[in-house]
Amino acid sequence: MIPFDKCPICGGELEEREVEKLLRGGDHTAVLKVQAEICLHCGERLYAIETVKLFENIRNRLKREQFSGFLPLGRLFMVDASNLDTASATDH
Ligand SMILES: [Zn+2]
Repeated sequence: MIPFDKCPICGGELEEREVEKLLRGGDHTAVLKVQAEICLHCGERLYAIETVKLFENIRNRLKREQFSGFLPLGRLFMVDASNLDTASATDH
C-alpha cells in the first residue's frame, strides 16, 4: 500500500494506474509494468514499498547479469542528437 492519501509534493489527488518503469543496473536496462499512484496535479509517481524493493532487486540482477525470467525486448539505443547524421535518413 501507498502510505499517502494525497500527493506529498503538492497535495494533489492521486489515481492508481499501471505505468512502465525503466530500471538500470550496470549497462543493462529493464522495463517493468507496475501499479503506481500518479498525482493528477504534478504527475509525481508514488510506488508502494514492495514495488520499490522490487526495483532494487531488479537493478541488482541487472548489475550481476542474472537475467533468468527476463524477456529480451528488442535492442536498446543511446542517441546523441549532436552526433546524429540526419542527412543519411532522408530519402534521396
Ligand atoms: Zn503532486
